[in-house]
Amino acid sequence: MDNADLISRLLDVIERDIAPVTRKGVALGNKLFGAAILRKSDLSVVVAETNNEIENPLWHGEMHAIKRFFEIPVDRRPDVKDCIFLATHEPCSLCLSGITWCGFDNFYYLFSHADSRDSFAIPHDIQILQAVYATPDPDREQAHADRPLYNRTNRYWTSHNLSQMIAALDRSHKETLLARFDHLNALYGDLSEVYQSDKGNKGIPLA
Ligand SMILES: [Zn+2]
Repeated sequence: MDNADLISRLLDVIERDIAPVTRKGVALGNKLFGAAILRKSDLSVVVAETNNEIENPLWHGEMHAIKRFFEIPVDRRPDVKDCIFLATHEPCSLCLSGITWCGFDNFYYLFSHADSRDSFAIPHDIQILQAVYATPDPDREQAHADRPLYNRTNRYWTSHNLSQMIAALDRSHKETLLARFDHLNALYGDLSEVYQSDKGNKGIPLA
């Protein structure tokens, strides 16, 4: 399978498996972040989940997917090393740690931290990484402004930005997949409007 096929399949999973459960979650007052865990062997979905912060502020889309994954009996659950981790949005510090502690060696995401802040009005990913983790350079007053906020490739995992992967494809694949990205962007734009119109009313600490 080449990259275009992999990207296409992951966009399918976002559209058909994650977005439908997210639509229900958002209607209840949850954020629009979702995640899925797939088998590397055939790209079949093991779990697809969505944010459930109205139940517990730790149930981000990724954490909720991890919780459901480990609720599968061990004899029916694939090894994490045989799985792809897919997030609709670049994982926050909590979810980066969750993915790491569970032993996944990869994750893929569609929308970046900057997208979450700028397109979805959720600034907390970047704010938490800066406020909690970015220690100042001893020679400067503050952390270096353009320093990466985490190591996108490290000894535990390699992260993959689907938008950047699409941009690197040849022209015909790129045009097809960009059209699908635009469609998902509009779909998540609609979900964001629903969330933003009612946010702050469901007891989520960082709404
Ligand atoms: Zn998170």
